[in-house]
Amino acid sequence: MTQRSISILGATGSVGASTLDLVRRNREQWRVVALTANCSARELAALADEFQAELAVVGDETCLADLRSALGSDRIETAGGAEALCDAAARPADITVAAIVGCAGLAPVMAAIERGGTVALANKEALVSAGDVMTAAVERHGATLLPVDSEHNAIFQCLNGESLDAVRWITLTASGGPLREWSQERLDAATPAEAIAHPNWDMGAKISVDSATMMNKGLEFIEAHHLFPVGLDRLRIVVHPQSVIHSMVEYRDGSTLAQLGPSDMRVPIASCLAWPDRMETPCAPLDLPAIGELTFMAPDEARFPATRLAREAIEAGGAAPATLNAANEVAVAAFLAGQIKFTRIAYTVEETLQRSNLAPPPETLDEVLAIDRAARAAAHAILTEAE
Ligand code: NDP
Repeated sequence: MTQRSISILGATGSVGASTLDLVRRNREQWRVVALTANCSARELAALADEFQAELAVVGDETCLADLRSALGSDRIETAGGAEALCDAAARPADITVAAIVGCAGLAPVMAAIERGGTVALANKEALVSAGDVMTAAVERHGATLLPVDSEHNAIFQCLNGESLDAVRWITLTASGGPLREWSQERLDAATPAEAIAHPNWDMGAKISVDSATMMNKGLEFIEAHHLFPVGLDRLRIVVHPQSVIHSMVEYRDGSTLAQLGPSDMRVPIASCLAWPDRMETPCAPLDLPAIGELTFMAPDEARFPATRLAREAIEAGGAAPATLNAANEVAVAAFLAGQIKFTRIAYTVEETLQRSNLAPPPETLDEVLAIDRAARAAAHAILTEAE
């Protein structure tokens, strides 16, 4: 088998670890070009040494000295800072896995797209914020965008190249998160530890909180709109607590195709790494008798307003999706830092959207980043108000 090259942006995170686990199991098949982190310098150095990466980059330049001193090999190039992340993303590689969390990953993703490469996208916030700016760049530069997010990867597999005209519905499944059955009063008092204790998936802190608020599904609704443009009225969300069906496509003739699998990100990541082929993963086969039941219910938007906010933001268009994402990032960070209540996250997002001067649709990366900055400032101001 010919060796392929890979770069991983966000190599020290949860998706980064799952990707590197697959690379480790097929070591001779991969040449590792660039690995990046924000400031986990020691972890990044260990990975760069293990995988003999060509380049290791920290987004936070103040962590570059630590990275250099922790590296065992002097053959690995190092760099630090936001521009260096984009340079790493722009390095030629057969596939670039975009797994930075948040809008911080947007400029690097755009750099990988502008190189015209294949990008396996986990970093949903980048697509939510940049939307048409990103999809237009994909088109213009002849890049290939493969969805890593398990729901979008499921949809991608169910569509399998079929025309979107034949689609009646795309249904995104949602686990409902760890607080799915909690009363409004209990939600008010939910702690960060409770919110990140996801019943099915082991993920980074930010996406775990997004799962608990259902903002993750809201972001995914917007992500699906850009990846599979069937129209907003043909996208829907259903809560499926077992997380066995990762999403479904219903065709015009009444046939529904679903993708099922274990709650293990190595499955959708493997689907991207091997695409259009298949590769082995170490994941246990699906044991349906042990699972027993698959259940489904409508989302409760009274207790979890985030999916409504996301739907309204993408319907409004313009600056609203980037504003929603930025406000959510600020509010989730404040919640994780113990500064605000769980239910204040959705409140902050809604207030930021209402108070922001929602500009026309951004047409460039710089315009998206300007909206992101303005929304962060607005959200921070709202956070300082008394609850
Ligand atoms: P983690 O928090 O586990 O990891 C995030 C990675 O991004 C780390 O490598 C981190 O580096 C890096 N990073 C964080 N901030 C910055 C920054 N400002 N500049 C540069 N790099 C940065 O996140 P996850 O792996 O859970 O999620 C990554 C993305 O994938 C998110 O967009 C998430 O929504 C999406 N996703 C995740 C899934 C999962 O199962 N985890 C499933 C589907 C999608 P450092 O270690 O130095 O902080």
